[in-house]
Order: sequence, then C-alpha cells, then structure tokens
Amino acid sequence: MKTILWFGVTFLLLLGVVLYFFHDETDFLQTFSSNPKLEDVNTVYKVDVEVYPDKKTAKAYMKIFTKNDTGRKQDKIYFQVLANKFSDLDKLTSEAWRDFLGPHPEPGGLGFTKITVDGAVTDFKFNDTMLEIPIDNWEENETIELTMEFDINVPFNEGTFSYTEDNIFFANWLPTRTVYEKDGWYMNEFQPIGDPGYNEPADYFVSVTVPKEYHIATTGIEKSAPIEYETKKTYEFEAEKVREFAMCVMDPKYRVKSEEVDGITLRSWYTPDSEESYEIYHSAAKNAFEHFNQAFGENPYDEFDIVPGPKTFTGMEYPGMTVVNSNHYNSGESYFISTIVHEIAHQWWYAVVGNHPIEEPWLDESLTNYSTLQFLKEHYPELASYHSGRYQEITEQLPELSKNGQSISTPTSGFPNDELYAALVYGVGSQMFNKLEEEIGVKKMNEALAHYYGNNRFTFATKDDLLDSFRKVVGPQTETYFNQWLRNNPVEFEDVK
Ligand SMILES: [Zn+2]
Repeated sequence: MKTILWFGVTFLLLLGVVLYFFHDETDFLQTFSSNPKLEDVNTVYKVDVEVYPDKKTAKAYMKIFTKNDTGRKQDKIYFQVLANKFSDLDKLTSEAWRDFLGPHPEPGGLGFTKITVDGAVTDFKFNDTMLEIPIDNWEENETIELTMEFDINVPFNEGTFSYTEDNIFFANWLPTRTVYEKDGWYMNEFQPIGDPGYNEPADYFVSVTVPKEYHIATTGIEKSAPIEYETKKTYEFEAEKVREFAMCVMDPKYRVKSEEVDGITLRSWYTPDSEESYEIYHSAAKNAFEHFNQAFGENPYDEFDIVPGPKTFTGMEYPGMTVVNSNHYNSGESYFISTIVHEIAHQWWYAVVGNHPIEEPWLDESLTNYSTLQFLKEHYPELASYHSGRYQEITEQLPELSKNGQSISTPTSGFPNDELYAALVYGVGSQMFNKLEEEIGVKKMNEALAHYYGNNRFTFATKDDLLDSFRKVVGPQTETYFNQWLRNNPVEFEDVK
C-alpha cells in the first residue's frame, strides 16, 4: 500500500515536471517562433527571474538570440555585466565612486553558474565588468543562441541598482550585448559619473516571479494577468526596441494610479505617505507626454511607470519607466515637477534617440534639460524662470568652471565630480539651447528637434546628427553657434549670423 501510494505520488510529480517543461518549451517556441528573425534589433533576450525580496537576491535564467551584424567574422562576443562593478568595493576608491556608493555600501553582483553557446557549455572570462565568451566561427549575419544562468545579489549603495526598506531597484542588472563600434567591441568600464547604460535597442521577454503580495513596475508591459500560485505569482512582460530592461519590486503598501494619455498608459506609484502629493506629479507627467509628443514627434512606447525611489539621487530614466526620489513625494514641492518632466523627456532623448552616454553625455542630458525648461515655460512659468535664471548664473561662471579644461562636451570620464558635470552639462548645456530658442523661437526650435528625432530613432546619434538637423531647418550659422558654446564660448546667436 505504502509503495503503491509512493509510486502514485512519484508518477504525479513526474507528470507535473514533464508538463511544466513542456509548458515552458511551448512558451519559448511561441515567443520566438523557434528562432527570432532579428530584423529590427540584433538581439532578443528571454529572461526568467525569481526575486526573493527578504534576502535581496534573485535567480535568473536567460536565453539570448543575437545576430552577427558587425560586418566581419567574430571569434568572441562581449556582454556588459555592469552589476559586477559592485562585487569588490575595495577597488572603487575615487572621489566620484565614494560619492556614488555613499557611507555604508554593501557589495553585490551576478554569480554565473553556466553559459552555453548553441547548446554547448562554454568557458567564459571576466575583465572587470566585461564578460568575454568565445564563439567558434561566428559568421556575418549568423544568429547564435546563448543561455546564461546566474544568481543575483542586489548591492546596497546610493546608485540605481540598490534597495530601500520597501523597494528593490533593478537597473543595469542584466547582462547586455556590448556595442560593436568601428574599432571593435566597446569595453564599458562603468563610470561613476553620468549614466553607464550604453546599449542598442533590443527585444525583451521577461518572466518575473515574486511573493504574491509584492508589486512590480518594469520597462515592459504585462502580457496578461499574473499567474498565481500558493505563495507566489509570475508576471510576463514584453518590451520591444528598448535599450535596457529595468524593474522595481515594491512591497504590498504601494498603490498605483493608471491613466491613458495620448495612447500611453501612465502609471504613477505611491505609498500612503505620499498619497496627497503624488497627484501633482502625475498631472505634470500627463502634460509632459502631451507636450513632447506634440513638440518632437510621437513616442512609440505604450506604458510609462513613475516609481518613488531612493532618497540619494533626484531621478533616473529607463525606457518606459523612471525612478524618482521618494523624499520629494513626501514634501509635495512643485520644484520636483522638473525632475519628473526631465525623466519623461528622456523617453525621446535617450530611449528613442540614443547617444554615447559616456563620450557625449551632453547630447541627451543638455537637450533633455532644455526640453524640460521648454515645457515649464508653458505650464509652470515661475519654475521656468527659476531654472533659466540658475542656468544663466552658472553660464556666467563658465571661466571659473572651465579652468581645468572641461566643457559641455567633455566625456563623463573627464569630470572629477558630479558638481562640475552637473554645472556644465545640465546648466550651461541647457542654456545653450535656451538662448538659441530665445532668438529663433520655440516653433523653429521644435521643427529642428522633430527633424533630429525623426531621423535618428533607435540609432546612436552624434553631435553631427544634431547639428545637421539645425543646419537644415534653421540655417548654417547654427553650426558655429553650437561649436562655440561647446568650446566654452557662449556666443549670442545674432553674433554668428
Ligand atoms: Zn537626465
């Protein structure tokens, strides 16, 4: 009797296992039609991750289809594992890293247990944040299939991949294929100043399992209602043509307000503490989507999440999502509107029109900050004059700020600290666009920016692409205007005519 019962239980368990894998395999086949075409993107990521919020850990399995579009045969591929910058904190001793980490950092990162290429287990090696995987004869236009298994230990610091008492922030956490530039694979070292994410658009299909009572906001959109188990639930997210897949795992007290705006579902997350003030930001965000859609061209994403984040930075942009300082929520101050609007403008300048965030950070940051100012002038004029006054003051300090050679167009690695980076790129850089707008008018300005947006969607734009749009729409003298400002000579537009 005992034996038979045991056999029966074993049989049912085995059947369950077989059905589970059959289900999983079917799901994979449906998602990829066995092999994705890779026409619009060169890489498709399928991720299965389970998050353990109590332990601040997770376990992930990743399947990656990637095409050799480098124009030559390759014998290896590189992935950026920026999360592993935090595995040995003793190496991060510069002033900028000390600021980034804060006073009580804890290490974290990804521990890889297995990597395969086209079904065969492979060796791999790390050089700081770069993961190198050998590939046998990777021919041009050939697609390979990699799998990766890894454990995630969420670090604690004042940056974007970290946690608070009620929220875990997964940013720059998944391995991503590094960018192949004209000189070869780009070795992303992760600079502590500016944004480290330098990725081509890719498609993501991500399944996330969390304890039943937790909430999730991500870059993607939910494919269907979560599948509920006894103590857990599994969400399936999809995100097409995005430069990264970010995610927040929030504890049960979080609530969300969801609203359709110009074809986008805007989701504002808040806690009981911020219930009274979050509406101010939600309505500013709503107006911002309408304003920028009209000014620069339609944003292609379907959903946008605003999540209260750590109190250590003002805000951080991701495709389809932003994390903003939760302290400001509790204050309910109108000043904070600028942060939300800035992160939304990044959906145009960063998420859709990409640029090299380390070499040319001004290209999205100065333009994003100017776009914010343009919005504020129309909707919050008092805030706008506060900010433009500040940018003008900073511009007048340019001789002092630039005495060691930095300018608006210095790469992030060329700045000693965040203060100088912010003053030049966010302050002087915004004023460069703002002063031009004062001369040519907002209508002409937006014609040039809509041209730039339309011509550079889902690429990495450069300074030349931006100048090209202004040359064509406004006139050839804009080139001299921008070049003078970028060389620390803030000229008036009428003087370069
Ligand atoms: Zn920004």
